[in-house]
Amino acid sequence: MAKSTQSEEEVASEYRNLVGVDHLMWLDPMTILMKLRHGHRIRGFDFKTVRPGGIAPALAKWDFGAKLILIDEETFAAANRAEGRARFTIFHEVVHALGGHRGEFNRLQSRSEIPPYAKKLRALESRTDKITAAFMAPRRLICDGWSAREVAFFFGMSAESARIRLEEIRGRTRHPKRPLPNSVAQLLLDLKKGSDA
Ligand SMILES: [Zn+2]
Repeated sequence: MAKSTQSEEEVASEYRNLVGVDHLMWLDPMTILMKLRHGHRIRGFDFKTVRPGGIAPALAKWDFGAKLILIDEETFAAANRAEGRARFTIFHEVVHALGGHRGEFNRLQSRSEIPPYAKKLRALESRTDKITAAFMAPRRLICDGWSAREVAFFFGMSAESARIRLEEIRGRTRHPKRPLPNSVAQLLLDLKKGSDA
């Protein structure tokens, strides 16, 4: 697959290695935030929790200038009790930080809250979401027969994120539709004739 930029999967894998968590299936947001705080991957990096609603309407935020991730206390608590959406929100900010994305990025309840004219921002947010999903659930750790329920369970994702993640992976590796073998096509034709009669 020739692409001018690195695929989301490649970027995610690079970030997992950078943070030193590539051997883990279940990622813990708190551990990763602490590793970033005490490591040297992002100079001056820190994170802070803010009182509920303190950065509303955002749930979390990456501030490039301050090298700071701000997290609403409610989201932080939810992530610590393993809620998939809250976990995703924090990892999404971590991906902004690791990507060195310049500016201030507010994580809203839904991407539909980003105005349609902000096309570049929408594209960056969409790519960041895809990298985040691959960061949490790398393709190589997803078993073939798994359903979205298993992906959600093993990687701590919401049911919706797990479903989207599986569609991403299986959609891309799915083989092109093969034509029906002649015998089957003939049988269908015969059946159709029969029903017409
Ligand atoms: Zn974002």
